[in-house]
Amino acid sequence: MTKIARFVLWLCNKFTRQELEEIIRRLQEILAEREPQIKPRDDFHDQHPHYRQFYVDPLAPLTEPTIPAPTKPILDWKRLCADYAQKKGRALDPVIRRKGETIPKGMVCLRCGAPAAYLYLNNGQNATQVRCKICPALSQIPRTRRKNQKTVFWCPYCHWALYRWKHPPGCTIYKCDNDA
Ligand SMILES: [Zn+2]
Ligand SMILES: [Zn+2]
Repeated sequence: MTKIARFVLWLCNKFTRQELEEIIRRLQEILAEREPQIKPRDDFHDQHPHYRQFYVDPLAPLTEPTIPAPTKPILDWKRLCADYAQKKGRALDPVIRRKGETIPKGMVCLRCGAPAAYLYLNNGQNATQVRCKICPALSQIPRTRRKNQKTVFWCPYCHWALYRWKHPPGCTIYKCDNDA
């Protein structure tokens, strides 16, 4: 007979039906964590004291970077182009690109709103800035939209890129680098 079976037998000898029902009710309250001062022993937790730190986040990570709300440009690129055309007698040509060079989709000049067709990649390999052909301001390419990003998930809370933190068997843990 197991330890528990022996204990159940002992309970049945010792207590009335009514008392047993009361015991069951109290135990259920404890297991449902409605009795905060009484905690059942938790062998798993005792053997894995850090386990609870790695719970699955209730929100799923984002699989696309969020596009930051564009700040309103202080100049109007269409107007600047019209002024140019009037002065020079011809339209301003879009940027001629080297093969393989691309501007992140949807990127615009932060000063005049010029579309990607009028933006040069300013610092080659790093691809962190664009120079506008029209106004000619320098705009930072948001971190999450740079071409060399290897990010696959973004933080559902602050929208930062998540990095691969640990890769224990059976799962991969991603972490948000944002101190906030
Ligand atoms: Zn511009
Ligand atoms: Zn975050």
